[in-house]
Amino acid sequence: MQYFAKSYDVIVIGAGHAGIEAGLAAARLGAQVGVFTINMDWVGNMPCNPSIGGTSKGHLVREIDALGGEMGKAADANTLQSRILNLGKGPAVHSLRAQIDRRRYSEYMKHVMELQDGLEIVQAEVVDLTRTGDGRWQCLTRLEAVYQADCVILATGTFLGGRIYVGDVSYDGGPDGMFAATALAASLKRLGVPTRRFKTGTPARVNRKSVDFSNLERQDGDPHIVPFSFDGEIQPQNKLPCYITYTNSETKRIILENLHRSPLFSGKIDGKGPRYCPSIEDKIVRFSEKERHQIFIEPCGEHTEEMYLQGMSSSLPEDVQLKLLRTVPGLEHVQVMRTAYASTAPAPISAR
Ligand SMILES: Cc1cc2nc3c(=O)[nH]c(=O)nc-3n(C[C@H](O)[C@H](O)[C@H](O)COP(=O)(O)OP(=O)(O)OC[C@H]3O[C@@H](n4cnc5c(N)ncnc54)[C@H](O)[C@@H]3O)c2cc1C
Repeated sequence: MQYFAKSYDVIVIGAGHAGIEAGLAAARLGAQVGVFTINMDWVGNMPCNPSIGGTSKGHLVREIDALGGEMGKAADANTLQSRILNLGKGPAVHSLRAQIDRRRYSEYMKHVMELQDGLEIVQAEVVDLTRTGDGRWQCLTRLEAVYQADCVILATGTFLGGRIYVGDVSYDGGPDGMFAATALAASLKRLGVPTRRFKTGTPARVNRKSVDFSNLERQDGDPHIVPFSFDGEIQPQNKLPCYITYTNSETKRIILENLHRSPLFSGKIDGKGPRYCPSIEDKIVRFSEKERHQIFIEPCGEHTEEMYLQGMSSSLPEDVQLKLLRTVPGLEHVQVMRTAYASTAPAPISAR
């Protein structure tokens, strides 16, 4: 049976990077804020690359910091390796990018939110959003609690009606094995909130002990690290290296032979892909003249052996993924801990 749980000034649905900053900013301006998340253990999750910054995104993080946000400080406190990219090009494109300990980053952000006056963080799935007679917003959770607020901020990331694709297999799902917010997606549709479906994807994660680093190029961080935060309270440290390897003609052959099994090419996926994370099969087709593509092998954290294969995002079936990974120098005997996947999710593009 539904029960009335609480009234806030502002409700933020989502405790990802957007929801965290929205919730903290509203609370720091004096509002009473409730922030809702599907999974309390993955606040500020990095479902793809365990890194912060890079071209254009690095500028955004520093702008958030200048406005009193938390992301820059959290990144500085949890850096594994930091570099300024594009130093060979003009200053407009110099980009600060840091490899981040994703588990520690998440714990750091959760703790900041727990300590923030005026903010409550709640693990509950919002399944319905309605307008009350007096013009307030009402959120109903899966466990039938009713929360009201003057304003609701949707920061639902890739969970809203999310769908996962690996070859011929597809199912409803959010990132990292979490469930998709299907009920809220339907509720927004009823409210007439327009959405646009986006496509994204992520590479496999592999066990460090199964990678042969002996012939790979090692990449260390910059000797002098520029922090993201202008406060300069935390001086980030380089703790772990990354490594570089390349695909080759055999990788290309396997991908081209199996393109028909990729949902990207069979027409199963219709969403637009963000320009910054094309899949390896997409790159092989679009840049067919290239014989090899660069792959960065990056650490996911200080206390895990999981490594991220930047540049190898894929939606090919699991058996094909294994075959193509094992053509790459250093990955001949690789053990995959998490299979690469593509996902699509509708994102709200405006609300009344
Ligand atoms: C496979 C994959 C690859 C990606 N690749 C990249 C990339 O290369 N570069 C990049 O910048 N971004 C990438 N992204 C996007 C990435 O998700 C975002 O960069 C970042 O996580 C977005 O932050 P966010 O705050 O908007 O949403 P998210 O981090 O997705 O957070 C959404 C939050 O909303 C909550 N939520 C959703 N629905 C409900 C509900 N009904 N009730 C309660 N809580 C709810 C979730 O629990 C979560 O806390 C990728 C995402 C995925 C899944």
